[in-house]
Amino acid sequence: MRYIQKHITLVCLAALLLCVLLAASVAGTKAVAGRRYQPAEPTDVPVLNYHKVDNIDHSLVLTPAEFEEQMSYLAENGYHAITPDQLMGYLKYGRSLPDKPVLITFDDGYADNYVNAYPILKKYGFTATIFLITDFIGADERFLTWDQVREMQKNGFVFGSHTVNHQPLTKLSPEDASAELTESAREIERQLGAKPRYFAYPTGAYNLKVEELVRQAGYRAAFTIRYGQVGIESDPYAIERIPLYHSRKTFRSFYCRLTAASLLERLSIFKN
Ligand SMILES: [Zn+2]
Repeated sequence: MRYIQKHITLVCLAALLLCVLLAASVAGTKAVAGRRYQPAEPTDVPVLNYHKVDNIDHSLVLTPAEFEEQMSYLAENGYHAITPDQLMGYLKYGRSLPDKPVLITFDDGYADNYVNAYPILKKYGFTATIFLITDFIGADERFLTWDQVREMQKNGFVFGSHTVNHQPLTKLSPEDASAELTESAREIERQLGAKPRYFAYPTGAYNLKVEELVRQAGYRAAFTIRYGQVGIESDPYAIERIPLYHSRKTFRSFYCRLTAASLLERLSIFKN
């Protein structure tokens, strides 16, 4: 009797496992079917995230020499800088991307992005996307001026919103969070002639409610600081990036993060 009970329990467990596997496979099929397109060879896109490029010893600040070493590596190894529009065209409609695409982004809109990073980016033929805190632009010498922003825009740089005041949206009421999203967009439109299509979460803080507010405010996509490469399964309102820091081994860390992200992600080692 005990043997039969044990046997039945095992059969039940096996059936349960089968059901779970079947459900997972159906869910996977549905997720794919719900998309407008499935590329034959999906590409993972690294979205690099920088802040300051200056001669200051701080983990969020790369020296110009460190930044140049990374840009030179990308250029020598055949990477092509893309725009967020190209990334979204690929994710939503399967439009093709250049070989070895990379999206270079900066948060906060520091003046050194123009003074130090911009000449290096131009030297290697790259453009970047910069997320601006609109109340800080032109406020003091630490931040970009609107004239600098317009000059970079003329040369292919893209500007997104990083709110008005850099407050984490998860800490604000929905009304205040919406105001940060729409008022920063309005100011960028006033200064640059077009509404920004992309947003980056201040401090990386977001949740489903905040994602919805970003969508309602009219942005096409939003960038997090969650580690990972972007692929066809990525949520457009929770785009992964690769944060890059200054350390004793800045280049080594950049190289590992750039080249190993995809594999480590698949093994679920890196994603948080
Ligand atoms: Zn920021």
